[in-house]
Amino acid sequence: MRHYIAVFALLAAVYCEEVFNGDQVLRIHAESKKHIQILKELERDVDFGLDFWTNVVSTELPVDIRVPHARLYAIKNFLKENNIPFTVMINNVKELLDREREEMVHNAEMERKTKSFNFAAYHDLDTIYNFMDTLVANHSNLISKVNIGSTYENRHMYVLKFSTGGEKKPAIWIDAGVHAREWISHATAVWLADRIATDFKENRTPVPSILSQMDIYLMIVANPDGYVFTHRSLSEFYRFWRKSRSATSNPKCHGVDLNRNWDAEFGGPGASDDPCAEDYRGPSAQSEIEVKNIANFITDHGNFKSFMTLHSYKQLLMYPYGYVGTDAPDRTELHDVATQASKALNSWHGTVYKVGSIFHTIEQASGASVDWAYLRGIKYSFAFELRDTGEYGFLLPADQIVSTARETWFALRYIMQYVCDHPY
Ligand SMILES: [Zn+2]
Repeated sequence: MRHYIAVFALLAAVYCEEVFNGDQVLRIHAESKKHIQILKELERDVDFGLDFWTNVVSTELPVDIRVPHARLYAIKNFLKENNIPFTVMINNVKELLDREREEMVHNAEMERKTKSFNFAAYHDLDTIYNFMDTLVANHSNLISKVNIGSTYENRHMYVLKFSTGGEKKPAIWIDAGVHAREWISHATAVWLADRIATDFKENRTPVPSILSQMDIYLMIVANPDGYVFTHRSLSEFYRFWRKSRSATSNPKCHGVDLNRNWDAEFGGPGASDDPCAEDYRGPSAQSEIEVKNIANFITDHGNFKSFMTLHSYKQLLMYPYGYVGTDAPDRTELHDVATQASKALNSWHGTVYKVGSIFHTIEQASGASVDWAYLRGIKYSFAFELRDTGEYGFLLPADQIVSTARETWFALRYIMQYVCDHPY
C-alpha cells in the first residue's frame, strides 16, 4: 500500500507548481475493497493536506475530497493510475468562496441600512448573538437567554430557552453548529428560533400546545470558537474548519472534533487519536469545555425527553447508535418517527432524506452526542445532516437557507409533537 502513496507523494512534489485557479472538490466513486483501502490510507495520512468532506465508508457512498490546487494534478493522476473513478464536484472552490463573501458583505450593508435581519444570509457570531438579544427582547414572555459556560477561547455559550413557565418541565434540546464549517446548520437554527417565537405569538399550531407541555432549548452556535475561525479569512484553511480551537499534544494541530468527544464509547472505532485528524476525539471523554458545558447543562436539568443536533451535509435523518452496528432497543420506534419526520420534511420542497442509524447510514462514530443522550435515557435522539447531497457541500448558497430551514422545521415539528404525545 505504501507504494501507491509513495508514487502519489512524488507526483505531488513534481507537479506542485501546476497552475489552477483554486481548490477543487472531487467526488470519488470507489468500486472495490482495494479502492476503499487505498482511499482510507489517504484519509489517515493527514500530511497530504487533503480535506475529506465525507468519510471513506464503502463502495455504496461516494467520497468527497477538497484537494488543494497544488495537489490536484498529482491526486487526479494517482486516482487514474489506480483506476478509481471520480468526477469534479466543485470546479473552483475559490469562486464559490468569493461569491459567499461578497454576498455577506453586501448583506451586512443592507442590514445596516434597513436595520433589519435577513434570514436568507449567513452571519458571523456577533450578528447571531445580537439577533438572539433582539429576539429575547421582543418575546420576553416566552424566551430567555441562558449562558451555559465559556469556550476554550473564553466566548459565551448561549442557549435560547422557550418556556411558558413551570420548573424543569420536560424539555427538548436542539443544537446546531457543532462542526464550524456547516454554516447551513447555524442559519437554519436562527430561522427556527424566529419561527418558534412567531408561531407562539400568532397562536399557530402546534407550537402553543407543544410549549404548554414542554420547554424547548435551542443552541444556535455550539462551537463558537470554531465558527469565529471560519469567518476569519477568505482562505480555505479557515472557512473549512470543523473542530474546536483548543491546543492539543501536537503544537501544529489545533482542535478536537466535538462530535467524537462525548462520554459514549469514547475512544472506540470511528474516531481518530491523531490531533491533526478532522475527527480527532481529544485526549479523554469530555475533555473539551464546550462538550462538558452542554453535557453538564443537560444532566443538571435532568428532564430532557428529546435531543436533536443539526449538521450538514448529505440529507440524512439518523438515530443511535453510531458507535456500534447493533440495533438500539428503541430502534423500531425511532425508525418510524424518523421516517414520518422525513416525509413531513419532503412535503414542502420535495427534498429527499435517507433515514437510518448513524452506523448504517453514514459511518461508525464513537463519542457522538446522540449516542451520549440516548445512553443516558433520552430516547428521542436524532441527528440531521441538512442539504445538500453534494452539489455545493459546505458552501450551500444563501438563497437556499430559508427553504432548508422551513423543510427542517416540518420534520422537527413532527418529532416535537410526537414526543409530547408519547410521554415516558
Ligand atoms: Zn457535522
